[in-house]
Amino acid sequence: MDLNRKTGRLLLAAPRGFCAGVERAVAIIETLLARGGGELYVRKEIVHNRAVVDDFAARGVKFVEELDEVPAGATVVFSAHGVSPAVREDAERRGLEVVDATCPLVEKVHRQVAAQAARGRHVLLIGHAGHDEVVGTLGVAPGNVTLVTGIDDAARLDPPAGRGLHYVTQTTLSVDETRGIVAALKDRFPELTGPAGSDICYATQNRQDAVKELVVAGAQRVLVVGSPNSSNSRRLCEVARSSGVEGILISGPGDLPQSVPPQIDVLGLTAGASAPGHLVDGIVATLGDHGWTVENVVSKVENVRFGLPPGLGEKDN
Ligand code: SF4
Repeated sequence: MDLNRKTGRLLLAAPRGFCAGVERAVAIIETLLARGGGELYVRKEIVHNRAVVDDFAARGVKFVEELDEVPAGATVVFSAHGVSPAVREDAERRGLEVVDATCPLVEKVHRQVAAQAARGRHVLLIGHAGHDEVVGTLGVAPGNVTLVTGIDDAARLDPPAGRGLHYVTQTTLSVDETRGIVAALKDRFPELTGPAGSDICYATQNRQDAVKELVVAGAQRVLVVGSPNSSNSRRLCEVARSSGVEGILISGPGDLPQSVPPQIDVLGLTAGASAPGHLVDGIVATLGDHGWTVENVVSKVENVRFGLPPGLGEKDN
């Protein structure tokens, strides 16, 4: 597409972009960088966004896959996606100073798994195989948690009999798809219990609702700013598709020309929970420069905020 020859309406979703858990994780790294005092290591991507990780890496933060890459005595940050107890024990064994950026809403799921396993019950974790959050949650009670990746698993599962069954979910799943998986599980295992509310977090739910609002407001295509390994961003594309329009994942303004075909007059724009606002601002500015009008489509106002860990300058709230 030649952006010079195309104008239209840009519908901007709200809420979009950083959630409270990502804000907190980013603020933790910023605070540690501002303090100085030696090399700073982060196990895995602090949040699943390339621009965020590249920015911190350029400022000296060292991202590692596992703790054996961190020298003894160094400070290591655990990512927003959480870690298993085995990783915490490993860090202690290695004499590392740990700062935990695990989102409190992921921790809540961990506590649920631990409590159920302590009561001798088996846990079904609905989530995506290999995702950092899922790996951490599975590790909370090894041998007592079975991963359910989709509706087909409900028919195939063979959980231990006579122990009671409880389900939890990854925090960033599709709300609609998860409802179907839970219904299939309950059909097969009527005794199945679950969380009091939903483990899918407020930010995931709100961003999915906001995409549906974009489509209702007339968006013919929805662009989602986010990285390919961001679960919640990919789900936003799926929500757009299941609402009847194309949902395209883009990493920033540079992807615009190939993402806006000439037949699109009304474009929706949102961002995953780990995508920084400056990327959205860049897209809005680029389209604005080409004569597009910008309209906000506000489906909800968010005011959730999580405090920094003790010792990092703020009280938890
Ligand atoms: Fe926490 Fe939800 Fe954000 Fe994940 S998407 S970091 S669970 S608030």
